[in-house]
Amino acid sequence: MAGLGTETAFEVLARAKALEAHGREIVHLEIGEPDFDTPRNIVDAGVTALRGGYTHYGPSAGLMEAREAVASYFSKDRGVLVGPDNVVITPGAKPILFFAILALVNPGDEVIYPDPGFPIYESVISFFGAKPVPLPLREERQFTFDAADLEARLTPKTRMLILNSPHNPCGSMLSREDLRHVAEIAMRRNLWVLSDEIYSKITYEEKHESITQFPGMLERTIVVDGFSKAYAMTGWRLGYGIMPKDVTPHIARLMTNSNSCTASFCQIAGIEALKGPQHDRDSMVAEFRRRRDFIVEGLNSIDGIHCVEPKGAFYVFPNVKALGLSSAKLQNRLLEEAGVAALSGTAFGPEGEGYIRFSYANSKENIARALEKIESLLQKV
Ligand code: PLP
Repeated sequence: MAGLGTETAFEVLARAKALEAHGREIVHLEIGEPDFDTPRNIVDAGVTALRGGYTHYGPSAGLMEAREAVASYFSKDRGVLVGPDNVVITPGAKPILFFAILALVNPGDEVIYPDPGFPIYESVISFFGAKPVPLPLREERQFTFDAADLEARLTPKTRMLILNSPHNPCGSMLSREDLRHVAEIAMRRNLWVLSDEIYSKITYEEKHESITQFPGMLERTIVVDGFSKAYAMTGWRLGYGIMPKDVTPHIARLMTNSNSCTASFCQIAGIEALKGPQHDRDSMVAEFRRRRDFIVEGLNSIDGIHCVEPKGAFYVFPNVKALGLSSAKLQNRLLEEAGVAALSGTAFGPEGEGYIRFSYANSKENIARALEKIESLLQKV
């Protein structure tokens, strides 16, 4: 168990809450969840489902109507054809990450994953006895990876490659050209791709592209997606994986062995999320875009901070190297002295040294307040 990692966001949140309990004012820019409520039509569908008796066990792979709704949404959205046999519904997106690595990677295999990146990748790869191989994301490439860096990390033991676009913590997105290159490598080297597309609907100028759109890739890709971010449904725990038909029964069996099934009424609410009106989602994304513009401009106006404009998700990952403090120290001083909860870039891997992650899933007023607090702390640093 000592080898299993964690997400520091939950630890920082706990420390911030403890300070608040002692009367301190804290602006929360640490946690990765929309500050919006789940849209009303989705809540109503969930309540109706509860009253209508969706309170029993369901199939491990998910209710057939939910798998059909996901398959038809995914086919239309990504422009590829999948059916319910390609879908497993899970409590949140995270179980798909866990199950896909457990099912497809053997001890001793190597898995390439983004650094900085969502900390659960590295944690789970190591936990199952495989070797995590970090792939650096470069600020000068708008936090995407260099093709030469990827090629240099391939060995005969490479089994899987993890992609995350839009990206947590950098907000970067992989271009079609980047994806084409990965697809070509995956085909040539017979690799699995785990494509974490949980932020696919939170994009600004550019549309999200999925690696499944390249010939042959649906047969070797597990897509991770879900409802937490796009529909502000983090607490419902509802996500899904899209995978080749012959992988589905194995992931479903892992569900039988762990969760039994995903809560039935949540799945009915999820169907409404996909099929119902999308204006709440669209206005949430429009608001995130305004906040992104605001926080990027605010951070770039502070001496010693340089912030690349993210293309998706709701995080900024500014470079703070000029301040001369380690990221972990800055995270602590931001929380304890300035009252701003944020995450050290190193919470996302060693390449995150020199960066801080702020989530802008908070009101513009609070972001403005945080920017003032950061600026006055930095005058002391
Ligand atoms: N993948 C990434 C990149 C995330 O940032 C998150 C949540 O923060 C998840 C997966 C997990 O999503 P869920 O809450 O639906 O399990």
